[in-house]
Amino acid sequence: EKFNYKITFADDLHYFKLFLKPIFKSGIGYDIHQIDSKSKQGLKLCGVRINYNKLIGHSDADVGIHAICDSIFGALSMQDIGYYFSNNSPKWKNKNSEHFLKFAKIKLQEKKYFIANLDINFICEKPNISKYRKKMISKISFILKIPEKIISIKATSNEKIGFIGDGLGIAAESIVQITNEK
Ligand code: ZN
Repeated sequence: EKFNYKITFADDLHYFKLFLKPIFKSGIGYDIHQIDSKSKQGLKLCGVRINYNKLIGHSDADVGIHAICDSIFGALSMQDIGYYFSNNSPKWKNKNSEHFLKFAKIKLQEKKYFIANLDINFICEKPNISKYRKKMISKISFILKIPEKIISIKATSNEKIGFIGDGLGIAAESIVQITNEK
């Protein structure tokens, strides 16, 4: 069998052991959407509905899920979310972003990778993310079928500096680590 690893010398054994070790890969994702100040409610972050002004976007503008998707695509050496779900396509108009995350989950399965940990950070003045932290973790855990304890949701304000500080938008960043070992 030509794909068999040939062990002849003592050093070959060393490389064979390296070959058996789990592979860890990391990915980063960032997204930002503008707040629709005219709307009274309709905000959705990490799949959780929040009684606050909604975000402007082609899909449902779930900035949290978009950042998570991009971090998974990055770890899998794929392209960005806009490549797979173009904001020019009517197909994705007002689309529930959970669909995009399910696509990322399928890609992980196809390539035989598992999420080792997922760290999400929101940057906004309002709303108060900590109130929705648990709900968001449980939602993401449910969609990705991963344990809640490997998900972290954090938030920081922009100290009233710049457009985020003026409350004009919400940004999210995500870092994921994936491994080929369960
Ligand atoms: Zn987005």
